[in-house]
Amino acid sequence: MTTITRNSICTTCGTKFPHNERVPALCPICNDDRQFISLQGQSWTNSEDLEKSHAVRIRKISERLHYLTVRPAFAIGQRAFLVLSAGGNILWDCIPLLDDATKEFIHAKGGLKAIAFSHPHFYSNMNEWASEFNCPIYIHQNDKPWIYNHGPSVKLWSGDEKPLWGDLKLVHVGGHFPGSSMLHIASVSRDGAMLCGDSLYISRSLRHTAVMFSYPNNIALLKDDFIAFYEKCSKLKFDTLYGATFEGQDLEGNAYEIFSRSMERYKGVYGL
Ligand SMILES: [Zn+2]
Ligand SMILES: [Zn+2]
Repeated sequence: MTTITRNSICTTCGTKFPHNERVPALCPICNDDRQFISLQGQSWTNSEDLEKSHAVRIRKISERLHYLTVRPAFAIGQRAFLVLSAGGNILWDCIPLLDDATKEFIHAKGGLKAIAFSHPHFYSNMNEWASEFNCPIYIHQNDKPWIYNHGPSVKLWSGDEKPLWGDLKLVHVGGHFPGSSMLHIASVSRDGAMLCGDSLYISRSLRHTAVMFSYPNNIALLKDDFIAFYEKCSKLKFDTLYGATFEGQDLEGNAYEIFSRSMERYKGVYGL
């Protein structure tokens, strides 16, 4: 263990570790088999330096949905989503930079009622976002071991579903992480949209969906984990998916058909 006294943001995954606390020499999120340590070795930055060299870009998908990315691309290229709702707005997943323009934009839309997460690869500087918007952070109980910056706003939830407000609910599917979850927005399309994080990976061709223990390291799920994931995910109702890792990772209208076809291939591979 070494002591890193500055705000410590891992440049590979964007996780921000607590200020002035001992953090490991290697980021534990990246040193996990789902991620990787850069071949150049572990490197860190901090919020001040990140803000000097990067900015948040906000793009509109529809009246109720915007996404946020850090530009130039940083860490794993996370895409966060701002979902507008009459009952209160929610931020789905997080990006490692919260700049003044982003604060102003979100406050002008009515602020945030909550932040919710798909899984630990997106926690980044979540406590700063929660503090700015004075809102809770919802994380599935199964992912508690990966919370390295457990501020007072973090609220763990458990079980298969957590209804929020209006047409919003969190659903647990597992797979990629034990607590991997998705956000369902029921009324933005015929059968609703899922913000899927890494619970499902939408391919670059937009013709396939994948579910894996690790995407960058190409590690498959164990058979029992796939079965548990499939039993939950196949019962969900959706026709639209928005992915977490690149712009345009959107399946609008035909997502369930693409998901079903992709899962048939997985079932064949697993002998199901
Ligand atoms: Zn990391
Ligand atoms: Zn991930």
